[in-house]
Amino acid sequence: MDLIIHHAKLPGREGLYAIGVLDGVIARLEQTQQGDGWLEGAQPAGGLTDHPGMAGSPSEAGRLSAADCMSAMGSLNTADIMSEADRVHWPEASSVFDAEGGLLLPGFVEPHIHLDKAELLGRMPSDAGSLQEAIRMTAEMKRGFTREDIRQRSLSVLNRAIRSGVTHMRCHAEVDPILGLTAVEAALELKEQVRELLDLQVVVFPQEGIMASPGTAELMEEALRMGGDVVGGIPYQDGDAAAHIEHVFSLAQRYGKPLDFHVDFSDHPEQLDILTIADRTIAAGMEGRVAAGHVTSLGSVPLEAAARAASLISRAGISVMCLPQTDLYLGGRGDKEHPRRGLTPVKLLQEHGVNVVIGVNNVRNPFTPFGTADPLEAGWLLASTAYMGSDEDARRVLHMLTHGAAQAIGAEEYGVRLGANADLVLLPSRDERSALLDRPARRAVWKRGRLTAETIVQSYTYGLGRQAQGAEMPERQAEPIYIQP
Ligand SMILES: [Zn+2]
Repeated sequence: MDLIIHHAKLPGREGLYAIGVLDGVIARLEQTQQGDGWLEGAQPAGGLTDHPGMAGSPSEAGRLSAADCMSAMGSLNTADIMSEADRVHWPEASSVFDAEGGLLLPGFVEPHIHLDKAELLGRMPSDAGSLQEAIRMTAEMKRGFTREDIRQRSLSVLNRAIRSGVTHMRCHAEVDPILGLTAVEAALELKEQVRELLDLQVVVFPQEGIMASPGTAELMEEALRMGGDVVGGIPYQDGDAAAHIEHVFSLAQRYGKPLDFHVDFSDHPEQLDILTIADRTIAAGMEGRVAAGHVTSLGSVPLEAAARAASLISRAGISVMCLPQTDLYLGGRGDKEHPRRGLTPVKLLQEHGVNVVIGVNNVRNPFTPFGTADPLEAGWLLASTAYMGSDEDARRVLHMLTHGAAQAIGAEEYGVRLGANADLVLLPSRDERSALLDRPARRAVWKRGRLTAETIVQSYTYGLGRQAQGAEMPERQAEPIYIQP
């Protein structure tokens, strides 16, 4: 084996597992313990010290088995937690990683992000008060973009995303007479450069419209010939939305590419281009190969009509990409009273079987002056604002960030299962709900079995009768204040 990860908690499964990776693929997967070793009521403080196995320096922790840690705590039934990993013979591996009871998920899939216009806060003359203002402001700033500038800002976001556990990403690269093919060239170059760290798909994205921005149609074709992976569409940027939709469908069919729309990004219930897209998807036999971002106007449609739309979207196999950080920021702006939340109706769509996923979309620019490119952050925001507070909702959100998003962008060989690529993220969390609530630093991230990110955190809470188990207290400048509990 090239890598063995042991003492891992897998979503929806009891006990702890060991996973063996050979040539980048999960070649062995076995339950090695019955119990998961977590103490009831344990709450992570700063991330890592509440699971006993996570105490101490990383190297120290790496040597402790979960069973050792449990014995040290003296509070669990040893028969239950006795590691069988010692008894089950596993072959030698060049790398062994003790997950220490943490939750091992398939890598996060970022299905919708704009690398080329990320991290622009320092260049913005002001905040944008509406979608159209954000587009205008960014179009102005785009005139100053160079390939190297796009590359540097993209790398900064990629670095954040990889550290957050992202192993697959679909980015939108803008194609228009302002930038020409500069953003597409930068994205395709990055795709090659980061290929061992994450799979990057490039959407050829006509942000300024196609008919409204003469020359864009030709540039899009050139971008697809250069290797663009997905045809982008944004009907609300052209006067004739139907013609825009028709144009991108014929392009997608001609080049044999999937489609990814920005659509119905408003609070106007009459703006429902998604219905045209769904009909056209079915007519083209492209079910499962079309995605639609935002679709926020559907949230303002009366229930019965919204349910009919959801049912059609489901039949068309369209994945809806909810982009909470942007949708909440720009949505409802026109409502002087009773402002709407501006989200697509997530639960309604899911009830009708639609694959709804979550994207980060923008990071620190006029559309979204927030963000860390962490899918868990976007998932937490959606859960907090879409009435998704239960344990089941937490599992659903994690599913949306992983398997759902993988389905939306057509990622293959995906999942924590035998034969899948070893694209993995390890969280120091006992389950999906605590992962979502804590959003802890990711302990480790692997792409095809190779470690792409690792975070080492030591955090101490003084004075509440809690202390890191067996950890050396760090040298500090001043004595901390101890409060008698
Ligand atoms: Zn977008």
